[in-house]
Amino acid sequence: MLSDQELLRYSRQILLAQVDIDGQLRLKDSRVLIVGLGGLGSPVALYLAAAGVGELHLADFDTVDLTNLQRQVLHDTDSVGMSKVDSALKRLHAINPEIRLVAHRSALDEDSLAAAVQAVDLVLDCTDNFSTREAVNAACVVSGKPLVSGAAIRLEGQLSVFDPRRPESPCYHCLYGHGSDAELTCSEAGVIGPLVGLVGSLQALEALKLLAGFGEPMVGRLLLIDAAGSRFRELRVKRDPGCSVCGQHDA
Ligand SMILES: [Zn+2]
Repeated sequence: MLSDQELLRYSRQILLAQVDIDGQLRLKDSRVLIVGLGGLGSPVALYLAAAGVGELHLADFDTVDLTNLQRQVLHDTDSVGMSKVDSALKRLHAINPEIRLVAHRSALDEDSLAAAVQAVDLVLDCTDNFSTREAVNAACVVSGKPLVSGAAIRLEGQLSVFDPRRPESPCYHCLYGHGSDAELTCSEAGVIGPLVGLVGSLQALEALKLLAGFGEPMVGRLLLIDAAGSRFRELRVKRDPGCSVCGQHDA
């Protein structure tokens, strides 16, 4: 099931008892949707491609801008003006030609988003606006797909995993439904590059754990990162029984 080349390429993670050949095969059989190929989506796409996740579905309707390059390490100076998806295809194929890449270059409406979520095993929200986050969450709740959610703005980051397959898991709306700073985007408020790299790397790690089936995912927990103070804090988060998105979802 794994070629000699694949065994070599992934040998350092196959060495881990928690991954092993079985975990690597699970990664190879996995399909993942990455919504947003910016600061968070960059490390997510790079690490998941390198790790051998079998099929990456890449969604972004934006083009690469010079102001992106301070933090969006998936793209480079030669990619300015190119669609972010095409820039990502080029880079990810160069990193790992063994995996399949699926492109979503136009904005996803409700129907196309539902179909895109349905087509994968797991979704990573790497966007920077509240309405898209809400739409991605709703699609994940409806189709029962785990959602790895990250956010970073100014000098603060957040991370959590919402897994509708687990009855105790909150959804994004349970936590953020009442609105917050999430309305602000990095292009308006600013953000420091390594912080989005950190949050995106943690998102990639959570995705690998869920897909390969090891460790303890951040379900029901919210990680708060204070980059200025170099402090990490964790909050327990609960499902809201009255949530308008996941509340009626009980089996
Ligand atoms: Zn909810």
